[in-house]
Amino acid sequence: MSSKNSTKINFFSGEQVPVELHKVRIVQKLNLKPIDDRLKAIEKGGYNTFLLNTEDVFLDMLTDSGTNAMSDNQLASMHQADDAYAGSQSFYRMEKALQDVFGKELILPVHQGRAAENIISQTFIRPGHVIPMNYHFTTTKAHMEINGGKIYEIYTDEALKIKSSHPFKGNIDIDKLKKLITKYGVENVPFIRLEASTNLIGGQPFSIENMREVRKVADEHGIMMVLDASLIGENAWFIKQREKEFANSSIRDILRTMCDLCEIIYFSSRKVSSTRGGGICTNDKKLFMKMRDLVPLYEGFLTYGGMSVREIEAMAVGLMETTDDTVISQSPGFIEYAVNELDKLGIPVITPAGALGAHVDAMQFLDHVPQKEYPAGALAAALFIVSGCRGMERGTISSVRLDNGEDLLADMELLRLAFPRRVFTLSQTKFLIDRLNWLYQNRELIGGLEFVEEPKVLRFFMGRLAATSDWPQKLVAKFKKDFGDSL
Ligand SMILES: *Cc1c(COP(=O)(O)O)cnc(C)c1O
Repeated sequence: MSSKNSTKINFFSGEQVPVELHKVRIVQKLNLKPIDDRLKAIEKGGYNTFLLNTEDVFLDMLTDSGTNAMSDNQLASMHQADDAYAGSQSFYRMEKALQDVFGKELILPVHQGRAAENIISQTFIRPGHVIPMNYHFTTTKAHMEINGGKIYEIYTDEALKIKSSHPFKGNIDIDKLKKLITKYGVENVPFIRLEASTNLIGGQPFSIENMREVRKVADEHGIMMVLDASLIGENAWFIKQREKEFANSSIRDILRTMCDLCEIIYFSSRKVSSTRGGGICTNDKKLFMKMRDLVPLYEGFLTYGGMSVREIEAMAVGLMETTDDTVISQSPGFIEYAVNELDKLGIPVITPAGALGAHVDAMQFLDHVPQKEYPAGALAAALFIVSGCRGMERGTISSVRLDNGEDLLADMELLRLAFPRRVFTLSQTKFLIDRLNWLYQNRELIGGLEFVEEPKVLRFFMGRLAATSDWPQKLVAKFKKDFGDSL
């Protein structure tokens, strides 16, 4: 039924433009406030885009988490929800959708992705354990370490290159994996974790070929594989585009092939099904029973897991829609457009374009700002000031402080600009590109940040910072000079 590039639309002019294969039926009014108000808002928010009020935000590109547009069918399904503490029909409809799409029979519902990480980490990780993975996610690492585990990122040499044409920068390095297991001993490796569309390195996918190689090593040692499937739909889309064997496969078949290679699948449905919630899926009764009792303890009864039944209904529909080429290709298509245009302007962005957002390399963009002054955080604040667009810092602010008081400098300093599914239009995307271009031409005006209030755990969420000089005021003055009274 579906063939390669089944969503491809060519323009007579030759221009490469992503075309929306949906229409707008419900809208939300946005504010684009004057630059003085934007400066006040970011100062009030401690130069942390997490602490902005969306009333002050124009394009909210903070995250794709819980912000994808929902479909008419999802919204309709929410009215059929079955309110019941135990045995809700809504749960069984969601269970069936998960069984269909992921091919796993046993389902544990949880309130969001990190809740799945809590349960998996508590169940399988003991002090001294090491967990190999392609790359960590913030909440994953925190949960594993709280339980005494240590994470090892065994990505390939391509993974952290900003400019690359490698189709699968999310792959695991098989040699490093083997060496790690030999070094620490099989008994200390509870599982191998694979993260689809590897979030923190630019939404980069892995290939099924790589998964199969990991599976081979896992089988040799009797180690299980755990798949973080929060962004699995996009990873499957990239496999269809970039892995020859699957060029003519349906997204559904690709998803099943991926899931069949892993014992445990967990996900944040804030991403994968454009709703809110999460879950853990397996076919192994023993593994299921080990994890099961923690669900009523932390989440709620086994047929709702902390989610509202309305969200559960929408999750079932949203999961099915994730297997639709026109739905799953939209966000990657817009990201690719943005990345290619930014690249043409000489602005340093991660290539090839990945899932969930465009990633600007703040280390190059602000090569005059030392890493300990948080270039990615400074760039996020500067972009907000000049555009009202809210991105997310994915760099050293999102890292941790070591025991000696020094920052653990992040591998990459990225400004992530999320493109939630079917939310932004092409002219809004062009506005973002234009303002980033202006900012790049005026980059020498941007300075650093320093913490004024720093939480111990996951400091990037609530931490407050300040500019290290009056650079924000200088940036505003230049903006007014160039743009006059334009917003
Ligand atoms: C978002 C995300 C999580 C955590 O999910 P939440 O629903 O935000 O708790 C875990 N892993 C990955 C890859 C994610 O993108």
